Amino acid sequence: MITKEPSLPPNFIRNIIEEDLKTNKYEGRVATRFPPEPNGYLHIGHAKSICLNFGLAVEYEGTCNLRFDDTNPSKEESEYVQSIQNDVRWLGFDWKDRLFYASDYFEQLYAYAVQLIQIDKAYVDDLSAEEIREYRGTMTQQGKNSPYRTRSVDENLDLFRRMREGEFENGSRVLRAKIDMASPNLNMRDPVMYRILRSIHHRTDDRWCIYPMYDFAHCISDSIEGITHSICTLEFEDHRPLYDWFLDELKVYHPQQIEFARLNLSYTVMSKRKLRELVEQGYVAGWDDPRMPTISGIRKRGYTPESVRNFCERIGVARRDSMVDMALLEYCIREDLNLRAPRVMAVLHPLKVVIENYPEDRVEELEAVNNPEDPGMGSRKVPFSRVIYIEREDFREDAPKKFYRLAPGCEVRLRYGYYIKCEKVVKDEQTGEVIELRCSYDPETRGGWAADGRKVKGTLHWVSAAHSIPAQVRLYDRLFVKANPVEEKSDVDFKSYINPNSLEILESCRVEPSLNNATSGNRYQFERLGYFCVDSMDSRKGQPVFNRIVTLRDTWAKIEQKEKM
Ligand code: ATP
Ligand code: MG
Repeated sequence: MITKEPSLPPNFIRNIIEEDLKTNKYEGRVATRFPPEPNGYLHIGHAKSICLNFGLAVEYEGTCNLRFDDTNPSKEESEYVQSIQNDVRWLGFDWKDRLFYASDYFEQLYAYAVQLIQIDKAYVDDLSAEEIREYRGTMTQQGKNSPYRTRSVDENLDLFRRMREGEFENGSRVLRAKIDMASPNLNMRDPVMYRILRSIHHRTDDRWCIYPMYDFAHCISDSIEGITHSICTLEFEDHRPLYDWFLDELKVYHPQQIEFARLNLSYTVMSKRKLRELVEQGYVAGWDDPRMPTISGIRKRGYTPESVRNFCERIGVARRDSMVDMALLEYCIREDLNLRAPRVMAVLHPLKVVIENYPEDRVEELEAVNNPEDPGMGSRKVPFSRVIYIEREDFREDAPKKFYRLAPGCEVRLRYGYYIKCEKVVKDEQTGEVIELRCSYDPETRGGWAADGRKVKGTLHWVSAAHSIPAQVRLYDRLFVKANPVEEKSDVDFKSYINPNSLEILESCRVEPSLNNATSGNRYQFERLGYFCVDSMDSRKGQPVFNRIVTLRDTWAKIEQKEKM
């Protein structure tokens, strides 16, 4: 469970809450909610909202409800309800017994709608959807009243009851709030409150054929639950007058709506509709594909909940829209795993090295430190023998001056091992490809240090050929090549910016034998390569599958700089 952190920096929402606590506005209560629509999997933007709402509840010893905004039956599925609960729990938050559904309030919402009709603040309209749009006007042009706006209260009550009873066709009538067709705010031009829709609802089945609209259902749900601070994203700012209008006209308990800027993250897209497009059209393997910005994708990729919460705290909350660099999310996971993930050796592109002066039957157990950042993590033994693998790119035959790795005639250090020197290069006769190196080792350099103090230019990771185990490694990269794949005022499909190299599968990697016991979800630093996580679906004992969470350094910053040059 998450507990209150001692000194969190102020932000404008914390300031509002502190002020309300001072004036005792809600008798000292802080009650928030996270209200997802179950029409897709949650993404990292939702994580910001979850951390904010649940985080404030923890901080001020208040409550946070998980409320499914399930007023739109044609788009919602129970699968999403389940996944959303998993995701919130994984992030480390607990709604206790405060799980609600807007559909729990359908009967009450209906009663409130009747109440608005009775005070002549709502009416049944027979205009078609098309006509309603026409009558509404535009930003520069006033709307005009529907000819049905003047219906009597009794007629409206009768028609609304019959709407509920299923007497009318889908879409033939709606219930509208009677506000002001000349309002400069389009949301106030008699917004629709109810529509007729015959659809099976995941909880109320076919009991209803009319469904409330978001703006009507949301404020009332907040009011029923006694929410104090109803926190939502900026696009709802123009809806706030409507939020207030409904609650004021009904004279019910009135929470305060507060808007903040939504999270936009570079090199990805952040709308459920677009993410669904990627899933349904097969651009990714599913909602939880490790390249997706969904919480389930991030989890499968190997991110820790701590790193995501830390990211959300770092980006803070503001009232202005901005784009957060993906590099910050990556920084947060590196920072977390640097301290926690054991370091191991793995070779992704193996090149065979035979140490000619090392006895054939000898195996040494070399002492390797598990994490230099944390001596408490101890050490392990890594077997060393005559035939080892090193990384193919750690050898260059025509090495330039600044190549600090292995080259003919050069000496390097094997991590935790010995100094080795490249004596001979064996090539494939047909292709000329380097297939093996013949090296010598200096027995006086055990542990990686020479008694005579001579230095080498580099240190390589390696595994013993006979002792290492085979592994599949999946290198994930950013899903898009463009920082902002969704261009405003452009016809270019965001999918045309998909990174063609966002997934590379390496089938013949070798990892040190200690990884034989790696289990689903374990995270490691592969020395010099990055952070990796055991795949939760495809990994088997003796045949592990690893997902790369992130590289050790921000390689994208370099690429971008090169592009600018
Ligand atoms: P999407 O456009 O991706 O479908 P949404 O806003 O329709 O998102 P909801 O399920 O309605 O998704 O959102 C639940 C809560 O999460 C809302 O309070 C919403 O404001 C918040 N939220 C959604 N996207 C973001 C984001 N990118 N950053 C911060 N909060 C977000
Ligand atoms: Mg929505």
